Amino acid sequence: MNEIKALYDQYVVPTYGRFNLGFESGSGSRLRGFDGRDYLDMGTGIAVCSLGHGHPEIADTLAEQARRLVHVSNLYYTEPQALLAKKLVELTGSGKAFFCNSGAEANEGLYKLARRFGHDEGRFEIITTNASFHGRTLGGIAATGQEKVKIGFGPLMPGFTQVPYNSLEAIESAITPATVAVLIEGVQGEGGITPATPEYLTGLRKLCDRHKLLLMMDAIQCGFFRTGAFMSYQTILAGNPGLETFQPDAVSMAKSLGGGLPIGAFWVRAPYADLLGPGSHGTTFGGTPLVCSVALKILEIIERDGLASNARTLGSMLKTRLEALMARHPKIITQIRGLGFMLGIEVAEDIPDFVGQTSSASIQMCNRLHEAGLITIPAGTRVVRFLPALNLTKEDAMEALRIFGDTVATLDN
Ligand SMILES: *Cc1c(COP(=O)(O)O)cnc(C)c1O
Repeated sequence: MNEIKALYDQYVVPTYGRFNLGFESGSGSRLRGFDGRDYLDMGTGIAVCSLGHGHPEIADTLAEQARRLVHVSNLYYTEPQALLAKKLVELTGSGKAFFCNSGAEANEGLYKLARRFGHDEGRFEIITTNASFHGRTLGGIAATGQEKVKIGFGPLMPGFTQVPYNSLEAIESAITPATVAVLIEGVQGEGGITPATPEYLTGLRKLCDRHKLLLMMDAIQCGFFRTGAFMSYQTILAGNPGLETFQPDAVSMAKSLGGGLPIGAFWVRAPYADLLGPGSHGTTFGGTPLVCSVALKILEIIERDGLASNARTLGSMLKTRLEALMARHPKIITQIRGLGFMLGIEVAEDIPDFVGQTSSASIQMCNRLHEAGLITIPAGTRVVRFLPALNLTKEDAMEALRIFGDTVATLDN
């Protein structure tokens, strides 16, 4: 570990605040550390390894496709890209898909789509929300509603404005003659796991229709069955009359889509699906047969094994038990938020063992959990996230709760 750390110190640009932890292999929801210990992984990258680690069917698909065909240019046709696009459209709604390599890049596609849409009328402004996260490109940091990603990178790309989340009035009063689109996460991830309300979603749809704006959703973290339905808005609107009619105009995806392989995509609703025509957008690596065949296999396994329902049932079990833990330790846990396998645990500001330390409560909590053998992901200064694999087992869920509960009890002394 120390040798590898020294190589990083010498040779890797130090953009990340890394934990003092490294891994050499993984299987299912377990990761084997350099220290020889097994860790229970409730982070899966950051909601990336949708089927956990070392999945044999994914390994077989990768090897078979690698022997057949890894890459050809997007100047040509391949079957896996066509089939994956068809599948994403079936799952999302009538429209088309574009493939790229990451979340930030998927969102860049949305910004370009919006600018094309409003170009002839001189409209280009996109409204996003406070505490959002949309990626680290120049467009992404201009769209993101968090100061910390912007510091030192000005002048920012023009055409973005941020307003409070879950407030229709805030969106409405930010609309100008130059506004062309609204971009929100269905559940804010990096911002600390905050779901949109049903009224916000249905109200936004009406507002966007009234002002001829594109309603764009960043589903990079909250999409791909994590909340128990393919898209978080389907989970949020379940049982609500708005569910039947609600449809965003465009959706960005990445993270879980490739189960660990880099793939991003955006879906665009039918009326706008041909706005970006030949020559208007592209990428060398987007939608290669290798990543598309893996994404297709993941979708097949999710359907075959009922993993959306696993995320719903185990997710609500986790949430209920975390709420019970909060009731026992109100001085340590202050809120539980989220849906399915996207859960945020907010810890108190003034945990005695944490005060006076330089790192945030969320980082210190993650460190404690690491010591106890559990991987979680911090969000902001006070939230730790559970973003487990969609095929998490009941036994692993119970073990995560046990480790988490013990750690919380130790802090509550
Ligand atoms: C991770 C994330 C992104 C950025 O994705 P990258 O693949 O890191 O570029 C954008 N939006 C949301 C909501 C994310 O969680």
